[in-house]
Amino acid sequence: MDFTDRALILRVGRFRESDIWVRLMTPSRGVLQAFAFGGSRSRRRFCGCLDTFNQVLFTFRGSRGGRYLYLTEGTLLDVHAGLRAEPSRLGVARNCADFFELVSLGPAGSGRAYDLLSEALAAASDGVAPAGLFPICFRARLAFDQGFLPPLWICSECGAELPCPGAARFDLRGGRLYCADCAAVSGAARGAYLPCGGETSRLARAVMEREPREWKALAAGPDARREFFDIVDRFVRFHLGVGYEDGGFRRL
Ligand SMILES: [Zn+2]
Repeated sequence: MDFTDRALILRVGRFRESDIWVRLMTPSRGVLQAFAFGGSRSRRRFCGCLDTFNQVLFTFRGSRGGRYLYLTEGTLLDVHAGLRAEPSRLGVARNCADFFELVSLGPAGSGRAYDLLSEALAAASDGVAPAGLFPICFRARLAFDQGFLPPLWICSECGAELPCPGAARFDLRGGRLYCADCAAVSGAARGAYLPCGGETSRLARAVMEREPREWKALAAGPDARREFFDIVDRFVRFHLGVGYEDGGFRRL
């Protein structure tokens, strides 16, 4: 099973003297692991390719018996050089990539996920530095694109477009958003439902409808930022089983 495909490198490790393993994301097959035998020595086959966050056109080959994949050569497409120039940019890229890797998407929806990760890495690398909200925007958008997170600007009950008058409520377990009227009827106004104000709905909509490089210019007040963070972080923990703890993402 030989194939050639674009790939974003999520993680790189060495084993034995000159061999390298890479975990990478491909648009057609999702997240894969492959070996680059002699990768730390072979400038001819892998010239500058085998670094984290590079985008590379790789030729993959299956081992005899199909137990593992290895790379026969690579053509470098993009190095996202800005990430290595500033630790804060690299931190944002690492945060996005770590989350992406743990959610471990299969081939279904992988083309869209690949584009999202690719755009997010480019946004983190180039132009204005990404702000603190960027990683949570990435988590929200990936969960939304893959059909988990619902639109936080449409009432799941009556279909009204938010913001409406009054406070909307988000049912974390059911993944449903209630406008103030529907929340009052269903009882969602009380209990463990999370508040989702009008500005939070507008922020969520902008994140889902705009490209990652445009997230850097999104303005939101502290209440909206906190609500958006709470909804996304807790939703992702509950429904995707991944959370940020002790300085890194963990399976919960
Ligand atoms: Zn409603």
